[in-house]
Amino acid sequence: MSDTVFGKIIRREIPADIVYEDDLCIAIKDINPQAPTHILVIPKKPIPRLNEAEEEDKSLLGHLLLTVKKVAATANLTNGYRVVINNGQEGGQTVEHLHIHILGGRQMKWPPG
Ligand code: AMP
Repeated sequence: MSDTVFGKIIRREIPADIVYEDDLCIAIKDINPQAPTHILVIPKKPIPRLNEAEEEDKSLLGHLLLTVKKVAATANLTNGYRVVINNGQEGGQTVEHLHIHILGGRQMKWPPG
């Protein structure tokens, strides 16, 4: 498994505020929230970034998006929320383990920075 901070959280080597977990993924509260609700959905498979997902990951990627919906409902984001995947350096990715941001609880702006 990957040696990023998310791999360590998945392996319970470091603590996190876990809000959801199943066989394929985990969802945690972001340690540096950019909105009143900021949750990360992270596959247990250590895919470094979206760009490195393969055809064989098709159902996992679908599962992650459906998990976003489930977690957002549990977090009561009934007025909407933003879903973000930062990919690579210019995409603003800082942790090299695929993750989906769920941001909500305030009005989002467009375009993003
Ligand atoms: P990204 O910039 O898309 O790679 O997002 C990485 C996210 O992981 C950032 O929003 C960080 O605040 C968050 N993060 C980093 N370390 C931790 C941690 N130990 N627990 C929870 N979130 C973290």
